[in-house]
Amino acid sequence: MRALVSVSDKTGVVEFCQGLAELGCEIISTGGTAKVLKENGVKTLDISEVTGFPEMLDGRVKTLHPKIHGGLLALRDNPEHAAVCRKHDITFIDIVAVNLYPFEQTVAKPDTALAEAIENIDIGGPSMLRSAAKNYRAVTVLTDPKDYAPVLAELRKNKTVPLEVKEYLAVKVFERTAAYDKAISDYLNKALLHKTPTITQTLRYGENPHQNAVYIGKPYTQLHGKELSFNNIIDIDAAQNIVADFDEPAVAIVKHTNPCGAAIGATPEEAYDKALACDPVSAYGGIVGVNRPVSAELAERVAKLFVEVVVAPDFTPDALAKLREKKNIRLIKTDLTYNGPDVKRTNNGYLVQDRDRMLTAEKDLRLQTKKSPQDLRNLLFAWKICRHVKSNAIVLARDGATIGVGAGQMSRIDALDCAVKKAREHNAEKLPGCLLASDAYFPFRDVVDSAAKIGVREIIQPGGSVRDAESIAACDEHGLAMVFTGRRHFKH
Ligand code: 5GP
Repeated sequence: MRALVSVSDKTGVVEFCQGLAELGCEIISTGGTAKVLKENGVKTLDISEVTGFPEMLDGRVKTLHPKIHGGLLALRDNPEHAAVCRKHDITFIDIVAVNLYPFEQTVAKPDTALAEAIENIDIGGPSMLRSAAKNYRAVTVLTDPKDYAPVLAELRKNKTVPLEVKEYLAVKVFERTAAYDKAISDYLNKALLHKTPTITQTLRYGENPHQNAVYIGKPYTQLHGKELSFNNIIDIDAAQNIVADFDEPAVAIVKHTNPCGAAIGATPEEAYDKALACDPVSAYGGIVGVNRPVSAELAERVAKLFVEVVVAPDFTPDALAKLREKKNIRLIKTDLTYNGPDVKRTNNGYLVQDRDRMLTAEKDLRLQTKKSPQDLRNLLFAWKICRHVKSNAIVLARDGATIGVGAGQMSRIDALDCAVKKAREHNAEKLPGCLLASDAYFPFRDVVDSAAKIGVREIIQPGGSVRDAESIAACDEHGLAMVFTGRRHFKH
């Protein structure tokens, strides 16, 4: 039995090789590994005694030799392979223990120079691992010191390693070399091509603790706080996309992808106060999106609330200092929005669509009623928010702020009831004279009749129902103004 040992991380290697030696295994090792083994009284052949070449070029070439790779790759039951090995004096290698130059640890240090990073790209190590793993039926390959003890135990018990263990170890090797190469390509993408790499990050869990989950994409710029959760990431998108629709300062407080408050203001602070006032109870544990850098003043206000995440294009140093006092708040700096298509999965496949980027302007509105709306700016505000609310959606708004949001109801009249309930709880005095937006047409006149009762003054909706005339007549009866946008904004 012959083992080749070449490890950067020397953890457990002495005990492992001692064990192998006791079983009569011959050990070949590279410079640093050989030194440690010899110092600890483990007999080992130097790699150069096998290859007939010295380790050279500052260790760049140590094990890259047919005597090594032939010994790893030769098929044991193939007579031609056996003949070639005999001819060239190649001895089979049965066990390989290799772990790699610490590339990931090297580039994780902030001051690592490119040259140092490059020297830490292991070439011979992955080659040996791959050769051994390709020939897994014959070769036992270990790249994780945790596997030393179980393999030794198998050898002690049966003098051989069972095939299923070798299969497991081979897969582990290819997972390791794939991750290693990914770390290298990510680093070089950044260092040489100035590209933000895509990462695959294992999350603590998915939507619920019993669901495994990963994040695949560009890393978030997180300035503070615990690791982002699956739900945080979804809600960050939702909060960002709402505020990105506005040129003026805007704030959205999101719960489960829906805004429980959103507002515009002369300043982000004013917008925050207005957004929070919509539903301060639901805002607890929310995700706050802002389309302006967060100031110290805004940070003071946000710090009073329990907030999971604040996402903004930037944070002033004072704001950062203030918010970093809170251990549990996550701070995300980004102005990236609406990136790529919208993808949803079904049991049979995926649905891919363009993002809903369509914005409506004043000129797109078509007046339907005898009365004209007096407050187009706020009607358009309500409409912009409404398209970010799960269907069926009704938004009640006033003075650049939502006062009631009815989200994700199975009937439109229920969505209105929810919005009214919310408004009554926290902003009852603002109901008379408020504005209403609906993400899709009214199938019946009931929404208009109910809206009139609670004091809605103006309505914005797409239109397009066979019963539009009934809703328009209802508006005229109640003295409401209504405009159509001609476009709906379903959100599922
Ligand atoms: P040692 O500390 O034994 O001198 O070196 C061990 C490290 O060298 C291991 O991480 C192994 O993956 C790596 N290694 C082995 N052979 C080669 C080679 O031919 N080229 C390079 N660049 N690294 C190698």
